[in-house]
Amino acid sequence: MTTRTHPVDRELIDAATEVARTRCRGDNHTMAAAARAADGRIITAVNAYHFTGGPCAELVLIGAAAAQGAYELDTIVAVGDRDRGVVPPCGRCRQVLLDYFPALNVVVGPTDRPRTVPVTALLPETYVWADHQLDAE
Ligand SMILES: [Zn+2]
Repeated sequence: MTTRTHPVDRELIDAATEVARTRCRGDNHTMAAAARAADGRIITAVNAYHFTGGPCAELVLIGAAAAQGAYELDTIVAVGDRDRGVVPPCGRCRQVLLDYFPALNVVVGPTDRPRTVPVTALLPETYVWADHQLDAE
């Protein structure tokens, strides 16, 4: 069995950490995410908590990236406020990230030993939404 290793994008972790430290406020914004776009840009976002199911930082980031013309993301990381460090994506985000960006890499913790894994590794045996969209010929 081979092990795929990916370098960890420390600049991305630093960007998410800075947004978590400086932009997260109260109960509404408690998580920050940063993604490396295919063109090299870093896009950041914070979650928008609401009891009806407000989006996680990763999902807000997808929209923020599109608003800036970044439709392809290479790597994403989420960091919690109050020095919680790198936080792995929740189940819903794993599914959405995989459907939007099947080749995406995700930085997971622990913060002192982060590693980069393919999003597909975080959601094995998954339902693939794109398959549902294929024409049955
Ligand atoms: Zn989530």
